[in-house]
Amino acid sequence: ICFYDQTLEAIVQRESAIRRELVRLSEGEDSGALTLQFQPILNLKTNTISWFEALARMKTEGLGAVSPLEFIPIAEKTKLIIPIGKEIIAKALRFLHRIHALGYETVGVAINVSAIQLLRPDFTSSLLEQIRNSQVNPHNIDIEITESVFSSDYDYINKVILELRQAGLKIAIDDFGTGYSSLRREKELNVNCLKIDKFFIDQLLEDSPERTITGDIISMAHRLGHCVIAEGVEYETQRRYLEAHNCDMIQGYLISKPLDEEAAIQLLGAK
Ligand code: C2E
Ligand code: MG
Ligand code: MG
Repeated sequence: ICFYDQTLEAIVQRESAIRRELVRLSEGEDSGALTLQFQPILNLKTNTISWFEALARMKTEGLGAVSPLEFIPIAEKTKLIIPIGKEIIAKALRFLHRIHALGYETVGVAINVSAIQLLRPDFTSSLLEQIRNSQVNPHNIDIEITESVFSSDYDYINKVILELRQAGLKIAIDDFGTGYSSLRREKELNVNCLKIDKFFIDQLLEDSPERTITGDIISMAHRLGHCVIAEGVEYETQRRYLEAHNCDMIQGYLISKPLDEEAAIQLLGAK
């Protein structure tokens, strides 16, 4: 019992420490604790980098590195994801502006957005204002949302997505296949791209029935007019399967781990 108490206590304390840091961050105090890394997304048709996914990182002296899998849910629960998400968008747009100034004008940036952000009535107007202020092209911005957002208010979310697309942005469904969306609803979604979850990419290493499902997801997405990105590609055998099944883009350690800004720019130069 004593052991349990201590473990629980440690969890609670860590969560409040993370929360305190998130509050500081949301007050606009740029202590350097919140940064972004960028992971390339390779276009299989052209063998060039089409996108970088912006992935949030948090690091403080007291907490060390905190995974987004840990701090994003806390930011969502406390609604601090609203100001912090805005800061993440600002940082991602600065990166986009920088790579375009360097001449990589066809490369875009993909930004993860939580349901809580998307459901704010001023989300679209605020995002479009940030885009205008950053002087970047909306066509080079991809918004990644998880399927679970459709569990909240499908029609409303689909309307927001349509507005964003009309403004020129791209929309991708993240972690596709793991969550809420049904193939029936997929048809009605106003999205551009599906990101097939790593689960299905892992199946490609085994001789399991799911292997064929991955190929089926790709052809189904194509029939519905969506492009397909495979997530978590780590091995050459997976890449070969995906290429043979006409997958459009791949992302994963096989290409590169998420990189700091400078390293991401170097990678562009090397490609
Ligand atoms: P995600 O959007 O699905 O991002 C992909 C995750 O898979 C990233 O983890 C990435 O580092 C990891 N990954 C990429 N390739 C491979 C691979 O080949 N093998 C393995 N094992 N992993 C790979 P990360 O950076 O820890 O992010 C985790 C999740 O946190 C993200 O999943 C996303 O849902 C969320 N997240 C990250 N940044 C943000 C953000 O700025 N806003 C919001 N709302 N969520 C974010
Ligand atoms: Mg993502
Ligand atoms: Mg994902």
